[in-house]
Amino acid sequence: MNGSDVTTSTLTHLEGSESGRSYDADVLQRTDPADNRPLLARYDLDRAARSLSPKSLAQRGGGLWRWAELLPVRDPQRQLWLGEGSTALYPPTRLARALGMDRLLIKAEGANPTGSFKARGMAAAVSRAAELGATTLIAPSAGNAGGALAAYGAAAGLPVTVVMPADVPAANREEALVCDADVLLVEGLISDCGRISAQIATATGAFDVSTLKEPYRLEGKKTMGLELVEDLGWRLPDVIVYPTGGGTGLVGMAKAFDELEAMGLVGAERPRMVSVQAEGCAPLVRAFHAGERRAEPWVGATTRAGGLRVPAAIGDTLVLDALRSSGGTAVAVPEDEIDAMQRSAGRLGAGYVSPESAAALAAIRELVAAGTIGADEQVVAFDTGVGHKYPPPPGLADPPVVGADEQDVDRMLALLDRGAAPA
Ligand SMILES: *Cc1c(COP(=O)(O)O)cnc(C)c1O
Repeated sequence: MNGSDVTTSTLTHLEGSESGRSYDADVLQRTDPADNRPLLARYDLDRAARSLSPKSLAQRGGGLWRWAELLPVRDPQRQLWLGEGSTALYPPTRLARALGMDRLLIKAEGANPTGSFKARGMAAAVSRAAELGATTLIAPSAGNAGGALAAYGAAAGLPVTVVMPADVPAANREEALVCDADVLLVEGLISDCGRISAQIATATGAFDVSTLKEPYRLEGKKTMGLELVEDLGWRLPDVIVYPTGGGTGLVGMAKAFDELEAMGLVGAERPRMVSVQAEGCAPLVRAFHAGERRAEPWVGATTRAGGLRVPAAIGDTLVLDALRSSGGTAVAVPEDEIDAMQRSAGRLGAGYVSPESAAALAAIRELVAAGTIGADEQVVAFDTGVGHKYPPPPGLADPPVVGADEQDVDRMLALLDRGAAPA
């Protein structure tokens, strides 16, 4: 059961995000032929509002496809569902207290299949590409997108190629291989992988599902914003803090809020959107504070947070517009604070979060200290992925190895610096 009863997509056309031109949504499309910028899916929102309402949603099951009216797939049989969507929104009580926040919430995207919110984007994009007749798929990936593409490609029965930087975490590579993708490792960055992936696509006819270079990964990621509004009782939070690479998640949520407003389900108020990047790769933060409409590519990108190691984003203008129109901001976090926050989050009960998620949490502490975020505001931090897929934060102790015999117990107790029962 994927919870999507008999509702169907109300997709009408695609629209150039800058040119405003209309295009046929029922053939495979990539970027806007007029200017090579992203294409946005447009829906008949009046029609969608007739079947999608707080009441009808309450009757539906969980998962991404419960929002079928606002997703691109026309034939419900084509909806690939591996359990993605309907992730928890929970109060991380001890961590919130440590950050000085009264009403912090975490959206737990690591609970998605493949361990990150990339599953949402690929569920929508692969389902739709298959529906429109794609026969092979390819994408560049910093790690999580490749694993997700491989998983959904396998679900669709389509061959997949993933092009990754050679230093991608082993878990991402292994996930893609186990899901039967062809994996190419490139001695370079995600931007180099993007160029190579595009060349292979041209040469082989594979459909390139690079983020924002086809219209539908954005639609899958948009469901994070739809869920957030529903979970908060059809209200918006004060602030959303999102670790940003290509920015599709953030742009998708802004699009979700606009669509819900057009459907009369929320008002004109918007959360302040905060984009978080790593100091070693912060093209959007730099462009935001320089007042630019586009982000210059970042030279020499380095950060352990692979999802943030995106030197150039095709959706730069869309991200910057979303930050500015919401009254939000952009923050770059030093690498050592990412490492430290990954451990703090674990110690304070938010689980083993990814370095990207840790960057978002570290930014919150900074923004509260600066007074940009009030301690009593409702802030939603996106935990975009699990920590398990990455090399661990530096400085973890090697656990002692002890024998299993009775006489070893005393030695064990001596080794533990906490937890011994008082005599
Ligand atoms: C891809 C990724 C990001 C960045 O997401 P965008 O929507 O591309 O900005 C953040 N965190 C994790 C764990 C990711 O995999």
